[in-house]
Amino acid sequence: MKAVQKTEPKIGAKLVEVPTPTNLKPGWTLVKVRATSICGTDIHIWNWDQWSQGRMGEKALPQILGHEFCGEVVELGPNCNRIKVGDYVSAETHIYDPGDLTSMLGIFHVGNNMKILGVDTDGCFADYVAIPEIVLWKNDKTMPPEYASIQEPLGNACYAVMGEDNDVYGKTMLITGDGPISLFAIGVAKAAGASKIIQFGMAQYSMEIGRKMGVDIQIDVTKTTPDERYKMVMDNTGGWGCDIVCEMIGAQSSLDDAFRCIRKGGRFSAFGIPSKSPSQIDYTDQIVFKGIQIHGISGRKIFDTWYRNGNMLANRKLDPTPVVTHLMALEDYQKAFEMLTAPTRQCAKIVMFPDKQELNAAMARRK
Ligand code: ZN
Repeated sequence: MKAVQKTEPKIGAKLVEVPTPTNLKPGWTLVKVRATSICGTDIHIWNWDQWSQGRMGEKALPQILGHEFCGEVVELGPNCNRIKVGDYVSAETHIYDPGDLTSMLGIFHVGNNMKILGVDTDGCFADYVAIPEIVLWKNDKTMPPEYASIQEPLGNACYAVMGEDNDVYGKTMLITGDGPISLFAIGVAKAAGASKIIQFGMAQYSMEIGRKMGVDIQIDVTKTTPDERYKMVMDNTGGWGCDIVCEMIGAQSSLDDAFRCIRKGGRFSAFGIPSKSPSQIDYTDQIVFKGIQIHGISGRKIFDTWYRNGNMLANRKLDPTPVVTHLMALEDYQKAFEMLTAPTRQCAKIVMFPDKQELNAAMARRK
């Protein structure tokens, strides 16, 4: 089969021919990939940055990239019982340990001994991928592959927006950032009934997508001071600040904005990852006396976000089309990564197709 594989500890990856996985382990399945999308994690691995060197290291190579996908189950290892050959599936990419306490408590997304598809195992930028059935999610048959593939990042957005209380209707929300997950979060917040969605961002191309996803107010962080941004948020929320803040960048300046713009007693979804630790927070005034709840968003709520997003997509109540900016053949992965790592990005989510017929069908749906 063909696969995009990281072969050397340096920038890039190669399109290679490798054997299709055989001798599936108990509980594992083989899936023929119909569509696969590129995530920020793949870009880290592509660049072979500090994070990937530390997390994976040279001993992991060669390894197939990718973790977001959908496809058809073509083979089952021993002891599979929920999934059948022919099922149309996507996968929760956090391969959790069923014996871990977190699994028993139903908080799979923060599990110990967790393996990540395409980071700790061979990924899905290939014709076929082997994956345990416990993380497979059955898709609605009518869902186009280019949407089924992006449910994993959409799940991050869903969890950040909805939190644990799922209390969004009528509330005001600040979303920081203009990457695909921030843009998906705008769509989720809109669909969930947020009364006003404010976005802090900067890239013109992405801000345009934010408008298509239904944002109400956009503030360009490169053209405003922190005081100006704060005032604009206050002016737009009756002077209270936002009920919910989804912080999706992690940079100190963004954290400062976010803690300042959340109202007293508000909910703070902490999703952005700072490139430097520790971050500074005024613990006394911004957390204790403000009475806010801070919720770390690690991954998605398994399988709650899958269930909700699957229903929303299948019933056409959430349209991710503006964020899915490019459809390409898997062979064009090099071009895709060049676009994603360009200094001024002219793309958001890129979905690739190992099979040209699938690509052509997806292109026809766009017309
Ligand atoms: Zn991802």
